[in-house]
Amino acid sequence: MAGFDDILGQDAVVTILKRAVSRRRVPHAWLFCGPEGVGKSLTAAALALELNCRNPVGPFAHACGVCPSCKAFIAESHPDFIRIQPQKNEIRIAQVRELCATLEKKPFSASKRMVLIKNIEKMNVSAANAALKILEEPPENTHFILTTQEPARLLPTIRSRCQVLVFHALPEDVIERLLRRDQVIDDEKARLIASQCSGNMKRALSMVHPEWFRLREWLFQSIEQLDRFDPSLRLAFGESILSKPKLLAESLDLIASWYRDAIDIQHRGRHIINIDRSQRIAEVIEHRNSRDLLRSLDIVLRFRSKIESRANAKLMMDTLVLTLA
Ligand SMILES: [Zn+2]
Repeated sequence: MAGFDDILGQDAVVTILKRAVSRRRVPHAWLFCGPEGVGKSLTAAALALELNCRNPVGPFAHACGVCPSCKAFIAESHPDFIRIQPQKNEIRIAQVRELCATLEKKPFSASKRMVLIKNIEKMNVSAANAALKILEEPPENTHFILTTQEPARLLPTIRSRCQVLVFHALPEDVIERLLRRDQVIDDEKARLIASQCSGNMKRALSMVHPEWFRLREWLFQSIEQLDRFDPSLRLAFGESILSKPKLLAESLDLIASWYRDAIDIQHRGRHIINIDRSQRIAEVIEHRNSRDLLRSLDIVLRFRSKIESRANAKLMMDTLVLTLA
């Protein structure tokens, strides 16, 4: 955990927060909207740190980083930074009741207690109603940060109680810089991951592992040999993908990236994602028809968009592998 200056790629958000802190006019509830892995929780932690520094530095009152409060926030051990997140994909009323009980007591040492509620759209109705009561009458010196990837799913009454800040996917150069700063990784891999992770740092970090590169190699090799696969081999390929449910979304994203590149190469485009693979893809698609490639991409993306429901995954996968060109 660190201060505002360590938040990269969210300049507009950081400017607003810095101004609020330096003027000491911080709303009691913020709603951070934006996709996964772009720094919403990190920014919440930075705000807690900046608000509680005992010796702020300079005209804009930046956190000093060395006072006891800063140290506790940096060590992620400050008892007045309360985090709530979905358990089994849901935030339940018991979690909100426990929060209410905590908030009835005085903060341990912070002048501004911070409550971070992640993925607030996962609150069930009774939990959301209980949370609304706290937001309507917030305890003194307590700030709330709610994060969401789907603001449209929130109760309008919750949304209207918060100041909204919108986070965007991180630019590729920021992801590359962060990967080089925090990971042992060579430049080529950092570039490849940055181009593939859709601006999602969480996803980028999962791609650093050798397992991801193995998955990618296996998927790409299989797609490149698909014209030699008979239907039973194709179905076995689909079954292998489904046998790793945690990697299903990633597998579909990778397959989609292969077809996107194939289409791009056919149209002499310049937006190839899998640059290290472009030669091989170009060779393979010499014998494949562009309409079939487009149809393949379409079917992969359709499956990907329905993946959350998990309904008919087997049927969809069978259709997918039997139709892929
Ligand atoms: Zn400090």
